Amino acid sequence: MAEQVPYVEYLTLGSDPHLVASECRSCGALFLDRRNACANCGAREFSPRRLASEGVVRAFTIVHRATPDVKVPYVSAIVDLDGGGVVKANIVDVDPVPDQVTPGMRVALTTFGVGTDSAGTEAVGFGYRPA
Ligand SMILES: [Zn+2]
Repeated sequence: MAEQVPYVEYLTLGSDPHLVASECRSCGALFLDRRNACANCGAREFSPRRLASEGVVRAFTIVHRATPDVKVPYVSAIVDLDGGGVVKANIVDVDPVPDQVTPGMRVALTTFGVGTDSAGTEAVGFGYRPA
């Protein structure tokens, strides 16, 4: 089986794919990228925290314009994860039309291949599908 690597460092692959945030040890703020300091309180200590793989759509838009190699339209959304954490991601496995996505809709994490290099290593990205 070819090797797989996550497209972003905060995605953990394997039999139970999930996101891991950096949680501020002082105030509990969650970040999905590396930080030198907390944007909420300025503290500099973080711990990894696994985020829930389900949540609800807070807001979304249907994107109709992109670079030529990106298939449009697609649904870009802000997802509030159960138990904390907010992530921007695409909603997949739905028709990209307004009546197929609604604020408050429950979604679940899903992963998919986004490209394979010449050595056969596959990059894996994530999105959310209706739960
Ligand atoms: Zn903080």
